[in-house]
Amino acid sequence: MNLKSYSYLSLAALWLVLAGCNTKPSDAENITTAASGNPFSEPSTLPLQAPAFDKIKDSDFAPALEEGMKQQQAEIQKIADNPEAPTFDNTLVALEKSGQLLNRVNAVFNLLTGANTNPALQKVQEEVAPKLAANQDAILLNTKLFERVKTIYAKRNELKLDSESNYLLSYYMQQFELAGANLSESAKDSLKKLNQEEAALVAKFTNQLLAANKAGGLVISNKAELDGLPDSDIEAAAQSAKDSKQEGKWLISLQNTTQQPFLTLLSNRATRQKLFEASYNRAEKGDTTDTRTTLAKIATIRANKAKIMGFKNYAEWKLRDQMAQNSEAVNQFLNQLIPAATAKAKREAADMQALVDQQKGGFQLQPWDWNYYAEQVRKTRYDLDENQLKPYFELNKVLIDGVFYAATQLYGITFKERKDLPVYHEDVRVFDVLDKDGSQLGLFYCDYFKRDNKQGGAWMSNLVGQSRLLGTKPVIYNVCNFPKPASGQPALLSVDNVITMFHEFGHGLHGLFANQHYPSLSGTNVARDFVEFPSQFNEHWALDPKIVSHYAIHHQTKQPIPQALIDKIKKAGTFNQGYALTEALASDEIDLKWHTLPAGSTINDVDAFETNALHTTKLDLSQVPPRYRSSYFLHIWGNGYAAGYYAYAWTDMLDEDSYAWFKENGGLTQANGQRFRDMILSKGNTASYASMYKAFRGKGPDIHPMLVSRGLVEQ
Ligand SMILES: [Zn+2]
Repeated sequence: MNLKSYSYLSLAALWLVLAGCNTKPSDAENITTAASGNPFSEPSTLPLQAPAFDKIKDSDFAPALEEGMKQQQAEIQKIADNPEAPTFDNTLVALEKSGQLLNRVNAVFNLLTGANTNPALQKVQEEVAPKLAANQDAILLNTKLFERVKTIYAKRNELKLDSESNYLLSYYMQQFELAGANLSESAKDSLKKLNQEEAALVAKFTNQLLAANKAGGLVISNKAELDGLPDSDIEAAAQSAKDSKQEGKWLISLQNTTQQPFLTLLSNRATRQKLFEASYNRAEKGDTTDTRTTLAKIATIRANKAKIMGFKNYAEWKLRDQMAQNSEAVNQFLNQLIPAATAKAKREAADMQALVDQQKGGFQLQPWDWNYYAEQVRKTRYDLDENQLKPYFELNKVLIDGVFYAATQLYGITFKERKDLPVYHEDVRVFDVLDKDGSQLGLFYCDYFKRDNKQGGAWMSNLVGQSRLLGTKPVIYNVCNFPKPASGQPALLSVDNVITMFHEFGHGLHGLFANQHYPSLSGTNVARDFVEFPSQFNEHWALDPKIVSHYAIHHQTKQPIPQALIDKIKKAGTFNQGYALTEALASDEIDLKWHTLPAGSTINDVDAFETNALHTTKLDLSQVPPRYRSSYFLHIWGNGYAAGYYAYAWTDMLDEDSYAWFKENGGLTQANGQRFRDMILSKGNTASYASMYKAFRGKGPDIHPMLVSRGLVEQ
């Protein structure tokens, strides 16, 4: 099986890693927000401190964020100025307990600015971003505080700390060092200034791109141009046009990747080209939504920051606390994939050109033709039609009888929808998650339908993080961008959408099974090149025979999906993987080239830089454009994946190799699930990634299962 979806974990999680994490007040201090009735001033009294969305107003965020930062700084100063000698408790534990108000408001703010934003929130976001960066610096670049941590670290062997506490101490040392705590005061000042400039630019990029995506949708005035789309999609496009005051027309909104789902179906070649170009050039129109100047400035700032830190470039700096650890390891990994992936993509292109020629098309295959002809090759070679599958993938059944059911089979956990908790949008649903013994594990929120005030893609994060120290259980959410059906119609998903649901819920499990004392080490607070491992691993269950036969039921006939159709999906699994991997590798290299720029570099021509990056890495296949171009590559500019997009391919190696372990050991069983939960999903960041992996697998990761599942080598 090899149907990969690429999505990301929200920046919120990364922020919380450093901020000392989610929830509950330390000592209830007098805060001005309390007086004004701000809903964030106290922890929510709802179950598991679920946010009181019915009481939260847009105007509550700015004062709560300001007060949260003020309160955290006071707490930090108190720790740093403590006249008592530094101890693990009065320093590390105190740090872990600090910043509760800020974490509380930030968690909700990050969710809403990503999934349900508006101009008022965007304004707060742009104003607050540099202040949050400064707030972070005031902690990690606080000399007195760092001296205390260093003193404790030097005595670590005498402290008899338990293993998680010991790991926390090393973790803080590393985080302080990587944030620049060892720099001179003047270097720290320069770094702080650049951090704030970068944060403001990142917020600007994010909002420019959202505007570009919104404005970039393709408007069609003549229905015939939509030939090939099923009626339900045409109806939905008419509704989208109506919603954006263009009644009587059809609006195809943009998905955040270069390729667009409708390119598979549109039989009108000119429409395909228009849609592709709308996507490809969405953020390069020379207007206020053009992101190129913004991103080039971000890249320059990052290169200059790396120099201040004494690193060769930004990538070397950022890889230090990742599983890969350095760019040699990343390059070695990517170089094992590039020749095989591009060779397979070229074979795929040749197959499609043959089909075009056979149909007397009289043109050279272009990127906007790829998915359309790939679909035809898929139909003829594997006799598989996406529209034949969709009726079996009704969203609610996929969720309850697929995603949840798989988790029950593997881990024994169960789910119960609850309607009593307030939500931020009518499409959001909430579920109790119960452990094997019936005790409450956490809450799960899901928000699956596309909206034009939602960032593209799909992601998971926490509203409340798990921590035994703080007495909190996980409150998790998943956000996706599945097409919303016209009113009264069932939500039928593509296979890709189904896989995305399993993927995001895999992150959800990583958050739900978190079992840490300290919030900073809890759940998904792990390296980027580890965090996508549980999520991609969970994708494997989507087509497991026991699972798929349970949820894939035709929404009209109520008949289960025929085994022959499942076999066809699986057989087609390696199909088009040359393209899929090559477009991802192209984005990997674009990311790495931007983040290995030497200090002082200024890139004036973003497009030329990108072209050159692809050329020098032999990824410049004209028919296989990068999955994300620089100008709409939110992962690296806005979402914490700078020098880290390779993490998806890296963790693909981990997930395929782990799935191989499952296959060797009896597949989907509760015993295997428990082992995976114990050794990976519940571990958070409490051991080195390599050792955690090796303990589970019995050896280091092997790339071979990934190459096989992508069809890059024979079995
Ligand atoms: Zn993910």
